[in-house]
Amino acid sequence: MSAPPIPARKLRIATCSLAGCFGCHMSFLDIDDTLADLIDHIEFDRSPLTDLKHVSEEGVDIGLIEGGLCNRENVEVLHEFRARCKILVAVGACAMYGGVPALRNGIPVADLLHEAYLGANLLNPQVPNDPELPPLLQNVLPLHEVVTIDVTLPGCPPPAAAFRELILSQLQQRPMVLPPEARRFD
Ligand code: SF4
Repeated sequence: MSAPPIPARKLRIATCSLAGCFGCHMSFLDIDDTLADLIDHIEFDRSPLTDLKHVSEEGVDIGLIEGGLCNRENVEVLHEFRARCKILVAVGACAMYGGVPALRNGIPVADLLHEAYLGANLLNPQVPNDPELPPLLQNVLPLHEVVTIDVTLPGCPPPAAAFRELILSQLQQRPMVLPPEARRFD
């Protein structure tokens, strides 16, 4: 049986990386041949591709966030995405659970800064204190601890096929069914 046609709609998508490594973005923005036929059905709002600093006030269809929350600016960005995205997606292990950055949880922030910036053998050691630097949170948090998340894409990073299914399911207005390779973690 042939695949159902893709409706002639366009989804407006915003993306950002909080406490992440951009690996999830690479998995999506690579737009490999798994995603190539969807390119006419997507337009980007805030994302590293457009360099827009905010999600459009009129809102977007899908917000994709990689990375957890490690500082106060991350929390502000997350609230803006929640307010302006119809469907908010936690993309990857860091957004869903905190991931690698959360390995610092349990160590006081003052000790982390001391180790990173005041350790031995550093030239002119000092903790950065520019007022534009957002203060660190005590712990790295997954997104769902601060706002409601509508969809999760598991993996580190999720495969392109998972992004494809997310977009197709929205275009075809049906439930998302993740492919098997997006549901295994070996
Ligand atoms: Fe990077 Fe993996 Fe975290 Fe995605 S889930 S931001 S690929 S470490």
